[in-house]
Amino acid sequence: MGTKQEIDLSITYNIREYPDIKSGRCDNCDNAQFKSSIKNAVFLRKCRNCVMKKII
Ligand SMILES: [Zn+2]
Repeated sequence: MGTKQEIDLSITYNIREYPDIKSGRCDNCDNAQFKSSIKNAVFLRKCRNCVMKKII
């Protein structure tokens, strides 16, 4: 039993509530490559490996 938080890939996280564990890296898989998009002036970062989504 660990305290590591489960990442739910079906939801979009917000960096204000879920700061990066390692800055610029995916919290789920530690990947540093993202697909970024801007929608309604919101910057969305999607991991290229595990598709975890976070608004930053
Ligand atoms: Zn990832």
